[in-house]
Amino acid sequence: MNVGMIFVACVLYFMLMYTTIRASLRYDAMVQATDAYIACGEDAALIREGSDFLTDQVRLYVVTLDPGCVEEYFSEVYTARRREKALDRLQEYQVSEGVSSHLQVALENSNRLMEREIYAMALTAKAQGQDLSKFPDVGAVELAASDLALAPEEMMERARELVFGKEYQAAKGEITEGITEFLEAILSDTRRLQEGSTWELRKIMKEQNVLLSILFVETILTFILITRLIIKPLHIYINNIKQEKMLEITGSYEFRYLALTYNDIYEVNAANEDMLRYKAEHDPLTGLINRGAFEQVQQALKKKSTPIALLIVDVDKFKQVNDGYGHEMGDLILKKVAKLLAETFRTSDYPARIGGDEFAVIATEVTADMEDIITRKIIAINYALKNPVDGLPKVSLSVGGAFSEKGYCDDLYKKADLALYEVKEHGRCGCRFYHEELSQ
Ligand code: GH3
Ligand code: MG
Repeated sequence: MNVGMIFVACVLYFMLMYTTIRASLRYDAMVQATDAYIACGEDAALIREGSDFLTDQVRLYVVTLDPGCVEEYFSEVYTARRREKALDRLQEYQVSEGVSSHLQVALENSNRLMEREIYAMALTAKAQGQDLSKFPDVGAVELAASDLALAPEEMMERARELVFGKEYQAAKGEITEGITEFLEAILSDTRRLQEGSTWELRKIMKEQNVLLSILFVETILTFILITRLIIKPLHIYINNIKQEKMLEITGSYEFRYLALTYNDIYEVNAANEDMLRYKAEHDPLTGLINRGAFEQVQQALKKKSTPIALLIVDVDKFKQVNDGYGHEMGDLILKKVAKLLAETFRTSDYPARIGGDEFAVIATEVTADMEDIITRKIIAINYALKNPVDGLPKVSLSVGGAFSEKGYCDDLYKKADLALYEVKEHGRCGCRFYHEELSQ
């Protein structure tokens, strides 16, 4: 999931980058189109200004007869060259052929008009007897025979007619028309480009909105997943560990794997702990609880107020069994005694091995009036021990008991031991309980 989320985030990021690059390219194109539009406007103005300058100079010359105007005229044509330069600049802005052709036509018309203007200049010079041979264009003009035949005043009239007349005005109008058409064409081109770019930019922004929304949802989803798969399981695990419990199998794959591993170790440790506790509390030979655990039971029962009975059990002349049949046989007898005690008493009672051949039993919820019942249990055990069916030697038990009405008390052991002493004194194999007269 993590890898998937990162992958989706990366894809979204690159898509966003891509849309941003597209938007910036579109923006650049729009800026370029606007720049081109402004430059085209300037170029159109330059051509108009260049053309008008030529008109002004030729008209001034035919009116004022100042050769300086001819000088100015040809300096515009060959040095300033505003019209040609303006046309050249159009190439830089990659204006389409269709659009720039309007300006091209305007320039051609202007050039064509120059022939008429130069002819007018030559005619004026002729009429005024001025020498304009230093201007090769004027020098190269061959005046028409009809014009040469005219009187100087008529020549001047004709020259003025050439640059002020209706024909001249019409030709100027054509130039202006070409420029106007060029401006209209460039305006509509720019507008079309702007509309296209605006539409494209809107589309890109919509795409970016969608991508950002997906990114937002993915972020929220990542937050929810982190909470559900990592933070929540962590809290559960912390609580489980504090309560010394096994971990709940929950959360992401890694957490479930962690929980399973932890639980395996937990089970092994718990089993080891149980085993150690069992070993610490039980007698390895008989399986009964040992002296230490029995003392803990005594301590616990001190706090109880229910009636109990304590029995101290001793195997009679056990040394003789060991001596006569061997230690192993002695062990078997001890195991048999333990088994009989465990079977005869209730599961709520506590039979224990507290010494070599010495056992004890705490019987719970037992009052003094149940002396007979317990005595009968001992008689039954002794009967089984004295009439063995398992091939073991005959043995018997001496049992001394004492009752307490309220839980375990410190002198209970002494009392039961006193009763046991009585049994041993009176020929063993029996059961007696402590009574007041015994202490005498
Ligand atoms: P009494 O009737 O007075 O109780 O005589 P007894 O022989 O039973 O007396 P004593 O307490 O002297 O003997 C207990 C014997 O138990 C002594 C010891 O060698 C033996 N014994 C102690 N622990 C074990 C054991 O784990 N296995 C075996 N086989 N014998 C043990
Ligand atoms: Mg003994």
